Amino acid sequence: MQTFRIAIVGAGPAGYFAAQALQNSANEDLTFAIDMIERLPTPWGLVRSGVAPDHPKIKTVSKVFEKIATAGNFRLFGNVELGTDIQMKDLSDRYDAVIISTGSSSGKKLGIPGEDLRGSLSAADFVPWYNAHPDFANVDVPLDCDTAVVIGAGNVAMDVARMLALEPHELEATDTADHAMVALRNSSIRRVILCARRGPEHAAFTSPELRELPKLEHTNVLMDNNQISSARNRVGDAPEKDVKSNLDAMELIVNREETNHERTLEFEFLLTPIEIHGSDRVTEITLGINEIKDGKVVSTGQTKTIKCGLVVSAIGYEAMPIEGVPYSGGKVVNTEGRIADSNLYVVGWAKRGPSGVIGTNKSDASEVIKLLLEDLPKEPKNIGDVTELLNGHTVVTQTHWEAINVAEVAQGEPLGKPRVKATERHELLRLGGL
Ligand code: NAP
Repeated sequence: MQTFRIAIVGAGPAGYFAAQALQNSANEDLTFAIDMIERLPTPWGLVRSGVAPDHPKIKTVSKVFEKIATAGNFRLFGNVELGTDIQMKDLSDRYDAVIISTGSSSGKKLGIPGEDLRGSLSAADFVPWYNAHPDFANVDVPLDCDTAVVIGAGNVAMDVARMLALEPHELEATDTADHAMVALRNSSIRRVILCARRGPEHAAFTSPELRELPKLEHTNVLMDNNQISSARNRVGDAPEKDVKSNLDAMELIVNREETNHERTLEFEFLLTPIEIHGSDRVTEITLGINEIKDGKVVSTGQTKTIKCGLVVSAIGYEAMPIEGVPYSGGKVVNTEGRIADSNLYVVGWAKRGPSGVIGTNKSDASEVIKLLLEDLPKEPKNIGDVTELLNGHTVVTQTHWEAINVAEVAQGEPLGKPRVKATERHELLRLGGL
């Protein structure tokens, strides 16, 4: 029986699914000792700090992660940062293979004037802020204005728009960060406008997310009937399945009776952001009006200006570069997950870019693990344990994490919440008994 030591850097969905694929590949002759290294004191990646708090069902996948973590031959090294506490070379020297699953955490920029004004922020800052990520607790999110504009037509833009447009008491029974709940309760925002640069037929939303919108109890969701019916005409009788599904869902919104709620969530298509205005704070945004000619999105040359105090761009993410790992175009340079001339592999968003739902990472990781298995040397290296390099460092092990998890859930129970997330690193370590 041979045991190969595999390090996985990043404890998000892609990392757990890579671990699961390794566990599933074990047999009488071959096993894996898996060490998962995570810079935060908590694992689960986007399931903890990305998924919208009002989508608790999506978070139930964490049960699968905990099963993987407790299946044996798995160790968590939380609160250990690659490049600071440990170097990539330390890992590639010691382990038979290293899997990078660090995701894409940096928000793409619009690249327009005014983007750096107060009140203009990326979903890459706003989402972890409301999800209690320790590094984002102090993000400045000014909500003392009537109108917010969200840029982008993907599910992240939809999450952001919904979080801003919801009546805050609808979030009371969720694990939204305490600081975000205080800010949202005091929010003056009553109008949220989501602006997409192309047509309804090009939107990257998925239809279950659209179908949820008419169920919002305190928010009037508005789409322009003309925009949706024009899109329907453009796609003809045989649109792609996803496009049809989205347009059907949009029609349900259009055909719904308007309500008198004071909160509105409006969808506007064919608008490209041009400039954010304000002297020390966002006061308005100018967008170019587009049209579709011969199937192409083109500018009409006209513009529209919306008065607003908050602009959140949700236009995609890029991976952060890692020292010693080839990087280009917002991703780790790889061929189907292999990193050339090394024992390094990459899975998830760091590999393929920020696309797909959580489950996409399962098939993605299992394909990469097939390649890793093909490449394994005849004999394991067996040269020392990573703990030798972490002497004196406070490591959050699986046991510590389980203590944090139990404590957070216990704090939530009397409040009817799934958990109360600790936001400060030292508080998380304290809950873990460290
Ligand atoms: P996304 O789905 O790729 O959407 C990005 C959006 O940004 C697109 O509408 C894109 O428009 C727009 N965009 C890009 N550059 C722009 C620019 N310069 N100006 C204006 N608009 C611009 O990305 P995402 O929303 O970040 O989501 C990432 C992945 O996570 C997706 O696969 C998503 O489905 C998934 N996710 C799933 C859920 C869920 O299942 N509930 C929740 C959140 C995220 P163009 O199409 O015109 O480029």
